[in-house]
Amino acid sequence: MTLPIFLVGARGCGKTTVGQALALAQGCQFIDTDFWLQETSQQTIADIVARDGWEAFRARETDALKAVTAPARVIATGGGIILSEYNRHFMREKGIVVYLCAPVAVLADRLEAFPEEGQRPTLTGKPISEEVSEVLALRDALYREAAHHVVNAAQSPDQVVSDIEAALQLARA
Ligand code: ADP
Ligand code: MG
Repeated sequence: MTLPIFLVGARGCGKTTVGQALALAQGCQFIDTDFWLQETSQQTIADIVARDGWEAFRARETDALKAVTAPARVIATGGGIILSEYNRHFMREKGIVVYLCAPVAVLADRLEAFPEEGQRPTLTGKPISEEVSEVLALRDALYREAAHHVVNAAQSPDQVVSDIEAALQLARA
């Protein structure tokens, strides 16, 4: 049985991009908790938050995490999934957790180039680079606490995939 691989990290660190490439390389299924939530509720993340609030969104995110967790899957999670202690323990127990770690400047550049507001409603109402910096300062320790492995996500997607495969000893000879 292949354990699920959970990718965690800040918005823009590449969970979706790298997750898709890693799943392809490993012949695994790719699932994104944000997309899963949007598909099953037929609402964007921004709509869910606007209508029901962050707390309700977080509860539904935990339901999504539990629903999508299965062997042989690469699971890209929402940036705030690690805020819940339950989610951190759940991921560590059920699979292998990889933190895609990138500096604020890299994250801010990517989010400025591809804001995708529907998927990434503002967390603080502040400009992107300020928000990224504040949110990462609060969450970096939680990403590290949840993770079995920390990978440098400022590299090209292919290189990030290789580093994850090496960390997990998944690379084929
Ligand atoms: P996340 O799912 O963690 O929020 P995404 O995978 O959606 O991040 O990536 C955010 C943006 O950054 C996308 O436009 C994507 O193309 C780009 N991106 C992601 N990973 C990389 C990378 N390693 N190098 C360059 N650009 C990247
Ligand atoms: Mg994503």
